[in-house]
Amino acid sequence: MDALRSRLAAVGRWLLPPRCLLCGDAGHDGLDLCRDCAAELPRNRSCCARCALPLALPAALCGRCQRHPPPWQAAWSPFRYGWPLDRLESRFKFSRELAAGRSLVTLWQREARPVELPALIVPVPLHRGRLRQRGYNQALELARPLARAFGVSLRHDLLLRTHSTAAQSELDAPSRRRNVRGAFAVAPRAALPSHVTVLDDVMTTGATLAECARVLKRAGVARVDVWALARAPSSRR
Ligand SMILES: [Zn+2]
Ligand SMILES: [Zn+2]
Repeated sequence: MDALRSRLAAVGRWLLPPRCLLCGDAGHDGLDLCRDCAAELPRNRSCCARCALPLALPAALCGRCQRHPPPWQAAWSPFRYGWPLDRLESRFKFSRELAAGRSLVTLWQREARPVELPALIVPVPLHRGRLRQRGYNQALELARPLARAFGVSLRHDLLLRTHSTAAQSELDAPSRRRNVRGAFAVAPRAALPSHVTVLDDVMTTGATLAECARVLKRAGVARVDVWALARAPSSRR
């Protein structure tokens, strides 16, 4: 089945060679992005080990994590949320351009991996109303290829969104924390391993991921990590 799928994909690429979603040039290396645009996506190489906050100078931890460590163990967010990644991400999230998400997650897989992989990846769930409206959960779309590439289990039915919340993008940091408090729950009788990663598309203040991490730890998970495609350069949490 996989062989058939990859042969069909090869035929598709021959009939319709990939074009760069940003500039329209020929796609490069199996991506819907040209070499230059793919290289321009801002990497997050100098960042806090604990929360992936972009730092101008290399340091183990940002000031905030030194004072108030987050409820997770480690964060992996290989890109910074900035031009031109922000454009691809919003087309992926709000305009149903799944090809943008596929290119972004392919590039994500090529970045240096964390040394310790989790036993399970759980994407941040969408409330069912939002899921119905959008048609897909962008975090799950990113989690699937990563889980496959790393040989890690993926479950999207263990962490539940029990309340619909206002869009975090409209809110300041304290309101974001209040907004997601009590919005998540672990499914009844869920069997969770001791090391779980929560995955989201973009991490801004980390309020959503922190709330998910707290819920998982209360359910008995010993170590929670957080992964996000891109980290916004915000120090507020
Ligand atoms: Zn391009
Ligand atoms: Zn930090």
